[in-house]
Amino acid sequence: MLLTIATTHQPATDLGYLLHKHPNRCQSFSLSFGEAHVFYPEANNEQCTAALLLDINPIKLVRKRTLTLDAYVNDRPYVASSFFSVAISQVFGTALGGRCKDKPELVETPMPLVAKISVLPSHGGEGFLRELFEPLGYQVTLQNYPLDETFPEWGQSKYFTVELQNTIPLSLLLSHLYVLIPVLDNNKHYWVNEDEVEKLLRHGEGWLKEHPLKEEITKRYLKRQYRLTRAALAQLTEPNEPDPDSVEEIHDKEEAAVEKPLSLNQQRLNCVVAVLKQNNAKKVVDLGCGQGNLLKMLLKDNYFEQITGVDVSYRALEITKERLDRLHLPRNQWDKLQLIQSGLTYTDKRIAGYDAAAVIEVIEHLDLPRLSAFERVLFEFTRPQTVIVTTPNIEYNVKFASLPAGTLRHKDHRFEWTRSQFQKWSKEVGEKFSYSVEFQNVGDEELEVGSPTQMAVFSIIN
Ligand code: SAH
Repeated sequence: MLLTIATTHQPATDLGYLLHKHPNRCQSFSLSFGEAHVFYPEANNEQCTAALLLDINPIKLVRKRTLTLDAYVNDRPYVASSFFSVAISQVFGTALGGRCKDKPELVETPMPLVAKISVLPSHGGEGFLRELFEPLGYQVTLQNYPLDETFPEWGQSKYFTVELQNTIPLSLLLSHLYVLIPVLDNNKHYWVNEDEVEKLLRHGEGWLKEHPLKEEITKRYLKRQYRLTRAALAQLTEPNEPDPDSVEEIHDKEEAAVEKPLSLNQQRLNCVVAVLKQNNAKKVVDLGCGQGNLLKMLLKDNYFEQITGVDVSYRALEITKERLDRLHLPRNQWDKLQLIQSGLTYTDKRIAGYDAAAVIEVIEHLDLPRLSAFERVLFEFTRPQTVIVTTPNIEYNVKFASLPAGTLRHKDHRFEWTRSQFQKWSKEVGEKFSYSVEFQNVGDEELEVGSPTQMAVFSIIN
């Protein structure tokens, strides 16, 4: 497939500087899936056109895959797809990254550009193609192809030759193509992971946030992986829409301030670590790990062999990682740690095989109707030997001088329970899923209202 980029910016041969490819030469690059050739059909002062021809080797594509007919007979060698994005990043990487050593002033310069791609598959047809490029200021000219010229009654195919005109910096055009080509194709030839979120945000900088189809673009780019899409969209929210994770962060600080006089958090964590050791739990998963307070303690303690933090909040996990990085731990200690972004009300195969699960100050963040889903995920499917659950004791709230009467400790708390409510829930869960349960008070106890935190320790009945 072929991409040409033409400009009438003067001198037009500046395009060669920006692309880091000399207009007088024809260059070839070997890629893992074929060859890319760069050449200039025309290059003079008034008009310069650069061409990227991608020659995909279909045999290279099938080598590592199961040998089905589909692996051999497909459109991959002939259309612009994620292979094309990889080619753009490898062959025009400097231009895509907005760097130009010889003429740095050109990088930011908007110039009249015409990009032509033959051929581009559009899952979503002409309408979707236009909806992707027109909001970015492109004038879009399309030529659609029939499915088969000899059978016009079969209708049109999803393949287009596309011409895109705009006056923008070249790096921006390349970023648009890099992101939107696989989005149109609605496929990627490689497995997507967290790195793809970072790439999307990097190449989408300055335009994706404002794009009316940012959600669909993000979903398709990340192959509809819910966890990754959510992480990316959280970072693409408008600055004036509060980021749900940062709101949580503020609320965490408020809760810590309420509880501070007791240094309750530390007492709670000490207690959890002691209970884990009493139960010989060396492999521990911290469900709803937040910013990693417990993980930090476990990681520093040689007793623990495998430590995993799980949280739905990508931001919390990022903060955790930064905080733990600062410990400068030796490599073998690091290897014990794993961070997983996941929701606790859905089963997740990665969270299996642990001696104990710690669920510290988390259940009160779950909507009550979702609590039963969480119970099944934890006690029925994950089924660790020991489960430690802590939650605020609402009876104690009257003792917090800074907490207005009748309010909960944290704005995200969906509920806070009395001791009898928590014990009733815990006993019912224990009976339902064959766990014995014992209770502990955490923090200084007061007559009548008990302790600020209540803890249930569940042990599996074999
Ligand atoms: N255990 C930590 C954090 C408690 S705050 C500590 O004691 O410091 C509650 C945490 O639960 C938050 O980080 C929040 O992101 C997480 N959380 C809330 N609902 C969740 C869900 N459905 N799945 C996974 N994590 C969840």
